[in-house]
Amino acid sequence: MARAMTLAAARSDRQRAQRAAAISSPQPTDLLAWYDRHRRTLPWRAPAGRRADPYRVWLSEIMLQQTTVKVVEPYYARFVARWPDFAALAAAPLDDILKAWAGLGYYARARNLHACARAIVERHGGQMPASEAKLRELPGIGRYTAAAIAAIAYQQPATPVDGNIERVIARLYAVGSPLPAAKPEIFRLAQALTPQRRPGDFAQAMMDLGATICTPKTPACAFCPWSGDCAAHRRGEADSYPRRTPKREGALRRGAAFVVRRADGFVLVRARAAKGLLGGMTEVPTTEWATNFAEADAFSYARRLFSPLPGGERSASADKIGGSRVRGKERRNSATSVPPHPDPLPTGEREIAWRRLAGIVRHVFTHFPLELTVYCADVAAATSAPNGTRWVALQDLSGEALPSLMRKVVAHALDGSARAPLKSGKDRP
Ligand code: SF4
Repeated sequence: MARAMTLAAARSDRQRAQRAAAISSPQPTDLLAWYDRHRRTLPWRAPAGRRADPYRVWLSEIMLQQTTVKVVEPYYARFVARWPDFAALAAAPLDDILKAWAGLGYYARARNLHACARAIVERHGGQMPASEAKLRELPGIGRYTAAAIAAIAYQQPATPVDGNIERVIARLYAVGSPLPAAKPEIFRLAQALTPQRRPGDFAQAMMDLGATICTPKTPACAFCPWSGDCAAHRRGEADSYPRRTPKREGALRRGAAFVVRRADGFVLVRARAAKGLLGGMTEVPTTEWATNFAEADAFSYARRLFSPLPGGERSASADKIGGSRVRGKERRNSATSVPPHPDPLPTGEREIAWRRLAGIVRHVFTHFPLELTVYCADVAAATSAPNGTRWVALQDLSGEALPSLMRKVVAHALDGSARAPLKSGKDRP
């Protein structure tokens, strides 16, 4: 009996060893050969055998973070036409860059783009450094971007690992631990695969493979140059890699946005704080976005908006919300904590009749969903902008650095009374 068990174990070991021997490991040369035949033509990519322009590589890599090639292409074209090199971008006003970036999301990147261009001009004489270490000292350049620039623009054997490459590696080696804990292991595997020869082409080939063949859903393994070497494909489980820890969505935040139109065709806007979510972008006034937002917060904010004193409160005797005047007892019921301002308001600012629009503007940021109620008001042409705000002509709004969320709010308001809730959208800080 014991002898039979020993023989069975030995047979099993032998079979495992034979299987292992039959499995080849992925070879960079196979991927490079595939890349030579199937590489994508991209506006920032140098033709085969030509040196890439570091400025274009950097600009495209910053723009492509968390965004698709299709979305980036028109932005990239506009940027290189307007600011063809580091010096031109460094000399541009930040506001112009933010405006040109509007709609691309992750607005901190636009500010870092400007800061990085200036640092390259001031510290490096307008030449982008080639080493990963030096690149990472620059604003907005992290581990991935430094490696991508070093590899693609300077042919350094660096290993950029973005979401696409992470997926390819996790499948090739059937990495069992879930993301994000698996990141260090995936990086080590990717690094071990990176060749000394043609590292820039290899990095771009990995990107292309992830974007066109090894896609998140139903990868086209039959067309993959590594299909014979891929552990996940062999198991018939390509779709289930990379493993992921279930994500906990942030709590829903709510708030109110206020679209004020002046009789002569202007809209009230302000700039968000330079740092933080949508930093430096343009918005219509809004309340805080909070998980415990209550409609009374909107009433209170609406009354304060045109207060003549900073942080003060105008007399609420003439304010209306929802089409009916908010005064006396009714006002106290909705927001009793805010005392009325004793001074009379200038003519033209007394009557602010707020209308609450039907529907809600929904938006999904990467770390929380948001719902905004929209209030509208029409004011006289003589109305001055409250502290910290300014008037923008309606026809100039499209040139403002309005993030997608605010474009939806304005569209909702300008549509008149909304008939149905707007579609959700995604945006990035
Ligand atoms: S064989 Fe399939 S799963 Fe594996 S790397 Fe290629 S495309 Fe991805």
